[in-house]
Amino acid sequence: MALDSRLDALRRQPVARQLKLANLFTSGVVIFLAGVLLLALQAYLAGSVLLRQARTAAAMTGENLSAAMVFGDRKSGADILAALRAFDDIAQAQVRDADGRPFASYTRAGLVSAPAAALDAGAYRFDADHLSVSQSISYQGRRLGSIQIEAEMAPAYRRIAWYALLVWLVMVVSLGLANAVLVRLQRIVTEPLLALAKTAETVSRHGDFSIRAKVYASADIGLLAGAFNTMLERIEKRDAELLSEIAERKRVEAKLDRLAHFDNVTGLHNRYYFNDRLAAAVAQAQQSQRRAMVMFLDLDNFKAVNDTLGHDTGDELLRIVSRRLGLCVRLDDTVARIGGDEFAIILENVGDQQVGEQIAQKCLTELAKVIRINDNEIYVSGSIGISSCPDDAIDVHALLKFSDTAMYYAKNAGKNTYRVFTPGMQGEAQKRFAMNGNLRRALERKEFVLHYQPQIDLHTGRISGAEALIRWAHPDLGTISPLEFIPIAEETGLIIPIGNWVLREACLQLKAWHDHGLTHLRMAVNLSSRQLSESNFVQMVLDTLAETGASPHALELELTESMLMDANQQTIAKLDALRAAGLMLAIDDFGTGYSSMTYLKRFPINTLKVDRSFVHDLLSSTRDVAITKAIISMAHSLDLQVVAEGIETVGQAALLLSNGCNSGQGFYYSKAVGSDEILALVLAESERERASG
Ligand code: C2E
Ligand code: CA
Ligand code: CA
Repeated sequence: MALDSRLDALRRQPVARQLKLANLFTSGVVIFLAGVLLLALQAYLAGSVLLRQARTAAAMTGENLSAAMVFGDRKSGADILAALRAFDDIAQAQVRDADGRPFASYTRAGLVSAPAAALDAGAYRFDADHLSVSQSISYQGRRLGSIQIEAEMAPAYRRIAWYALLVWLVMVVSLGLANAVLVRLQRIVTEPLLALAKTAETVSRHGDFSIRAKVYASADIGLLAGAFNTMLERIEKRDAELLSEIAERKRVEAKLDRLAHFDNVTGLHNRYYFNDRLAAAVAQAQQSQRRAMVMFLDLDNFKAVNDTLGHDTGDELLRIVSRRLGLCVRLDDTVARIGGDEFAIILENVGDQQVGEQIAQKCLTELAKVIRINDNEIYVSGSIGISSCPDDAIDVHALLKFSDTAMYYAKNAGKNTYRVFTPGMQGEAQKRFAMNGNLRRALERKEFVLHYQPQIDLHTGRISGAEALIRWAHPDLGTISPLEFIPIAEETGLIIPIGNWVLREACLQLKAWHDHGLTHLRMAVNLSSRQLSESNFVQMVLDTLAETGASPHALELELTESMLMDANQQTIAKLDALRAAGLMLAIDDFGTGYSSMTYLKRFPINTLKVDRSFVHDLLSSTRDVAITKAIISMAHSLDLQVVAEGIETVGQAALLLSNGCNSGQGFYYSKAVGSDEILALVLAESERERASG
């Protein structure tokens, strides 16, 4: 465990230290083992040198003693032994005769020690502090005795100790040397590694891949540095590629962004940006408890400019309009072009709802100023619808739709004006929207029917004819009034096929009545201005009459005052052609439009239909009585028949009759009814005539 943790600690050391410690440890162990070996050798050598010396001393002394022992001269024996003084190591010596009795002995001066145990001749023995050597003494082959010498070990020990000290010193010095050498050597190894590590660190810290590592001569470290550099080169290249790719992508993104968010004709924001911006404005409005307002602006007469002066002028006009709109709003408001001639404006951070109206008026005033393009003086106007968040909605789509709806109302109110959205507009708009789609299929699906409202000859009180009034029998919504769908049919052009169908259907009915013997009945059919402006209109009417076999003299076409106001030479020619073919022409809703008597002279008109608004107030308003009287007498002076519309009471009928009105039409007599019903009415009337007649 302790070893493990120490190894772990070692592993965490820098490589340089690891290398040094490993090397020092190895060389330390080697030097230590060598030292131990040397010491052991030294001890062995010291032991054998001591043994040889002791033996030599014993042999020499034994030879010198042989004569003294032959003669039993103990005195000379002792003297000879005393010569052992010359040997420092020898502590004592004993000489015994052949019988083992002591003959002489020697003890080094100052030593007091017991004689050692006797050894066999020729033997030796090492113990802790002494070496004992025994040698036999003989003369001419006769054994005289033996000599035993005791040598001290201490001096040998001292020598070994000194030696050990020396070995230790050598070890320390050589380890020190080894350390110094290792430090140098290891620097050769670790320097490139450290340099490489430092380079890697610099690269990653500064992200600068152009830095290169120094390549050293060493095979593997050189390889490592080389590989490292190759890697850096690759990264640098990839980095450069990446940077240019990112730059390119940013450029493309910016371009896409421009395309995605800007209109390329006017440079204004486009619908996509507008939607994003509106979402942000709505969120902001909810947070700040202030208003965001949407203004939907549709140019009233752009199509005409585009058609007559060309697209370049049209584009220039749009640019000028854009600039003018920009002048009317604050800097942080958004002006966008969201369709051909449709603009939308977001007013942000608005406190009072009236601000929207003020800005709308400002825009209208600004637009009304004359625009000059290539010597053309152009006047444009706009219709503006305003919706407000959170008053009307907090949903982006609803806000835009509501402003669009309000704009529609501004258009209907005569253009060049603005309308603020009200919830009441919405149901209307939704209906119109649904109707537009269905209207196209209603003809094919035969969902239209004609009803007929009787017209009464006020003098005779008899039915003189009927006005054909269209109804839409919608499969889901039930009967839909022409007041709701005729304006849409006119806008979309569907009024042409619908009008043709009405005319054909009315002619067929007229023919049926005449075939029934009811030849006094006439049929009045309403026309829309678009029908009249069709170049083949007259031909279509004549064809229909021919195909159905209806009499042109019994057919009356109802025109409105505005249709006559807009009439040009061609229109007048058409009306003349119709009159020439025997048809009658009536002016519908007379009194609601310009009601100029002078233009009546210009047109080949037979009948005036006094609008029901005058009839309605006849009994309460003396002014309306005067007007009605004037209309009737003036019409008569122009040789025109007068039909009063919307007679609801007997009083109205009587007053009109007393003032010379020729015919009447209204709920007092009958509302518009189906073909069977009106036939029944007419037949019942004939029956009464015959009965009274
Ligand atoms: P209009 O030509 O003025 O038709 C008369 C309208 O007054 C009819 O409404 C009729 O139902 C209504 N009316 C009749 N008597 C009275 C009355 O005593 N009191 C009141 N308050 N109203 C009365 P309707 O059928 O809803 O038609 C509305 C308008 O739709 C027509 O007005 C006409 O302009 C247009 N219209 C109807 N049929 C056609 C058609 O086939 N072609 C074209 N282009 N327009 C049509
Ligand atoms: Ca009419
Ligand atoms: Ca009318």
